[in-house]
Amino acid sequence: SAWEATVRKSAERSEDGHLVVLVTGAAGFVGSHVSMALKKRGDGVVGLDNFNDYYPVALKRARAANLANAGIFVVEGDLNDQALLARLFKLAGITHVLHLAAQAGVRYAVHNPKAYVHSNIAGFVSLFEECKNAKPQPAIVYASSSSVYGTNEKVPFSEDDRTDQPASLYAATKKADEVLGHTYNHIYGLSITALRFFTVYGPWGRPDMAYFSFTRNIMDRQPIKIFQGPDQTELARDFTFIDDVVKGCIASLDTAEPSIGSEGRKLGQRAQLRTFNLGNTQPVQVSTFVGILEKHLNREAIRNYIPMPSTGDVPFTHANVTRARNELGYNPSTDLETGLGHFVKWYLDYYGQGSKNEASLQGYKPY
Ligand code: NAD
Repeated sequence: SAWEATVRKSAERSEDGHLVVLVTGAAGFVGSHVSMALKKRGDGVVGLDNFNDYYPVALKRARAANLANAGIFVVEGDLNDQALLARLFKLAGITHVLHLAAQAGVRYAVHNPKAYVHSNIAGFVSLFEECKNAKPQPAIVYASSSSVYGTNEKVPFSEDDRTDQPASLYAATKKADEVLGHTYNHIYGLSITALRFFTVYGPWGRPDMAYFSFTRNIMDRQPIKIFQGPDQTELARDFTFIDDVVKGCIASLDTAEPSIGSEGRKLGQRAQLRTFNLGNTQPVQVSTFVGILEKHLNREAIRNYIPMPSTGDVPFTHANVTRARNELGYNPSTDLETGLGHFVKWYLDYYGQGSKNEASLQGYKPY
């Protein structure tokens, strides 16, 4: 069928030795950037995304249109559609899975817990089942989150620190993914890498995240809410620029060993199992980052300081990335000032000076 031909074409690599990657969540923020970077260096890429409306679908469609221009097909479908996944594995010769599709966001979980179970637990298992069934079995790299460290007060966070106190339902599902990942590695010999991302930001970012909504409110001359912790302390985040995260994802794929399968397990072999922090190592207080935004936007924010609601935000995050440096050559190199400059430039191109003009995206080539 035409659909099958499109999938196959999208999966074509420039030459043998390159990867063929199924990127789930390819119409998402991180997924669209990594897909583009993989394609650029000659890997085959097939995307999967259900284009859900957690945030404006127009933005996801626009990202997918950019990918289509680069020859990457984003299949529209849900992680829970196992028949679809089986078909993709059969068709496309997938060697690696980069699993980024998830229900993200901490506050949304308060009223929509089941969306997290659907995508982050049921969808996760559905995908891993099909990876287990696929011949050959792909190596899997998937997105966990810094949120698994919860309210841990020992900073910076290292991979072996405790993760048994998730502070939100989102964090609990990411922690559950790590436990599931361990089990699929242990029983079925799947090669598995968990990436704990720390507050990723940049062009084509997520409208539900603070840096994005602050920018919108500053442009629209609306107040912004800055959460304060106990004793008027401010939240601090280890903001990590998208290009650095993309490099970490690609290095993880490149260093992933093949899955060994149940057969390998029976022979007493162990499949690769890794966990990496991908952060920036430079936590910044929220008011500092608002200051940088004001400078780039050349406009003052109207600041409302309010007590932190008990909806799952943690007071601070800070990554120790020594392991990723040593094993992946990961080297986050974009400071917040530079990275927010890139974001603001994209934001103003996309939305214009405060007018929410979705159409202005047409023909815009940011990558
Ligand atoms: P995103 O929401 O932009 O991308 C996720 C994509 O997955 C979306 O396009 C969505 O439509 C798709 N999706 C969700 N559920 C699906 C399902 N059941 N089936 C098919 N597609 C589905 O988010 P992002 O910021 O690009 O995040 C990528 C990954 O990184 C997520 O797993 C997220 O939890 C994790 N993460 C992100 C950050 C960050 O700061 N951006 C931090 C920590 C972890």
